[in-house]
Amino acid sequence: MSGKKERNKERREKRLQEISLLRTIPYSDHQRWWSQETVAVVTGANRGIGFEIARQLAEHGLTVILTSRNISVGIEATKALQEGGFSYDVHQLDILDGESISAFVEWIKQKYGGIDILVNNAGVNYNLGFDNSVEFARQVVDTNYYGTKNMIKAMIPVMKPSAAGARIVNVSSRLGRLNGRRNRIQDATLREKLTNLETLSEELIDRTVSSFLQQVEDETWQSGGWPQTFTDYSVSKLAVNAYTRLVAKEICDRPQGERIYINCYCPGWVKTAMTGWAGNISPEVAADTGVWLSLLSDQAITGKFFAERREINF
Ligand code: NDP
Repeated sequence: MSGKKERNKERREKRLQEISLLRTIPYSDHQRWWSQETVAVVTGANRGIGFEIARQLAEHGLTVILTSRNISVGIEATKALQEGGFSYDVHQLDILDGESISAFVEWIKQKYGGIDILVNNAGVNYNLGFDNSVEFARQVVDTNYYGTKNMIKAMIPVMKPSAAGARIVNVSSRLGRLNGRRNRIQDATLREKLTNLETLSEELIDRTVSSFLQQVEDETWQSGGWPQTFTDYSVSKLAVNAYTRLVAKEICDRPQGERIYINCYCPGWVKTAMTGWAGNISPEVAADTGVWLSLLSDQAITGKFFAERREINF
């Protein structure tokens, strides 16, 4: 391993140790803005990182709604958690299915009156190791970007007003960084437009992902200057990151008492089905930043991207 890689590895391991320590420090009474009445929804919570985020939020004393596209699997996951004695509920939710989203929103309104926290965790990736197939590019972009966007649009109207503010956390990836040194869009003008909040728009993000998908269809994507690693997945997460910043800007002037904070984070490379269990951290550690962002009491934090509880550049 090169000296630089070695140093980065050491730095990461040190940070992970710091986080294990931070996780043992209980929240003080003045930090705990939530109670058992606080409702958190986690998408794709039947396994992996989503399951862990749900478990940790419930351990902190919130009511957690696990959602799963396959309800039987969701119920099984909830049973495993209910044995711990915490407060859970479960509902079917496929973030690609408009009817499933509408039914979920109706159920939330009827049963809980609204929610306080939305964790958009559901996602897909079909590549492993050095593979870079785009065979499932449409499904990857539809699920990771459009599914997340559908959920944000559907849930903002049912986010409860509160003094502490409601929260949206999008589970994203460093692979979707716009201005990372490696694995980025080659077109500097497009990068600048997507970076600059004055030029960033939903239409621009949609047009960017559509242009990628069109090139996949035309089989010209390889010379299109797209990120080189897990290209479809990177494009989808880049769109999630850009959309996070855009929504933060759009909702930043909501009055006190109706505020919503929205951030995204990279959980690291995690031992879950998505990586063929080849990651280097556990789902428990990977859930940490998502849980921390969900429970933050610092209301100045919105429209930001995090990894290991630290802000990173988009
Ligand atoms: P898993 O594959 O273990 O879990 C993915 C979850 O998403 C499953 O519950 C899956 O449901 C659900 N899901 C997929 N499509 C839909 C859909 N249309 N509607 C509802 N749920 C859906 O992956 P991880 O736990 O590793 O990943 C969780 C998140 O973390 C993803 O957004 C991923 O991109 C992100 N991430 C993961 C990394 C890693 O190293 N693992 C690295 C960076 C980011 P089902 O069981 O039915 O398939």
